Amino acid sequence: MGRIVSIGECMGELSETDMPGTLNMSFAGDTLNTAFYLRHSLGPDWEIDYVSAVGNDGLSDRLLDFLISQGIGTTHVRRLADKTIGLYYITLKDGERSFTYWRNDSAAKRLASDPAALARALDGADVAYWSGITLAILPNQDRLALIEALSHFAGRGGTVVFDPNLRPRLWDNPDTMRGWIHRAAAVSDLCLPSFEDEATWFGDSDPAATARRYQAEGARRVIVKNGADDITVAVNNSGLFKFPTPPVERVVDTTAAGDSFNAGYLAAELDGAALADAVAAGAELAGRVIGARGALVAEAVRRP
Ligand code: AMP
Repeated sequence: MGRIVSIGECMGELSETDMPGTLNMSFAGDTLNTAFYLRHSLGPDWEIDYVSAVGNDGLSDRLLDFLISQGIGTTHVRRLADKTIGLYYITLKDGERSFTYWRNDSAAKRLASDPAALARALDGADVAYWSGITLAILPNQDRLALIEALSHFAGRGGTVVFDPNLRPRLWDNPDTMRGWIHRAAAVSDLCLPSFEDEATWFGDSDPAATARRYQAEGARRVIVKNGADDITVAVNNSGLFKFPTPPVERVVDTTAAGDSFNAGYLAAELDGAALADAVAAGAELAGRVIGARGALVAEAVRRP
């Protein structure tokens, strides 16, 4: 019996369809993707709650209906009267996707603006999952409030799990991003970075350097994802382990690869799996997710 909270922003996704003049509407967001895969991977003795903010409008209602339909709790999604959810639009040209965003004034930017609500959301939870995107969208004072709330949560025995999910475009500049990401890692028990992003923005020479850097910032455990290459794991002071990534027959769409890996790993760990088996569970789930189109692929989840 346990409870996981996933903290972040979920947006409406508009994409073009084969039928001219018709758009498809769905919902997406890194922390939603992980909540979705956790819900589908764990049994009913685990509650998965989303922590965010939405508006009072019909579109926000649709998002909450969607979360509830997926078995994700919405008790701690705050309603803000003068806001609505962020939106993005996907254009497909010659097989390449490009994105147009309307998210600068989204309700989710206020998800940490009420410290009492944040404390209520975390109260009694076992695991808090969040990402660098969660942190990027907040004003500075709310970044501090969220880090402080998670630090208290960790101090009371909660497990904080963080995916840096580096998105420099959401930050004022790369230095600001790097500084906050390290502050976030310092309050997180487990960090789940992706090497390609880390090499680009922190200049790490190899996944071991990424793992050591996050450990030096205060993360107890670090799992470095690296596409089709080995997964590098650092646990406490017991050195580095490397685990192979199972080959994928056909990569169709890498959306949510990292988010689903995180959920597959975490669900297995919470089910009592050993480190190697939990890493394999994360990689196998991610491998099936990228073999199909879209971020939320329920069929990719295989419960024992
Ligand atoms: P990434 O964030 O790109 O490192 O990917 C996250 C996870 O998705 C990896 O750790 C792998 O488990 C899986 N993955 C991504 N790309 C591939 C690939 N080309 N082949 C197999 N697995 C992959």
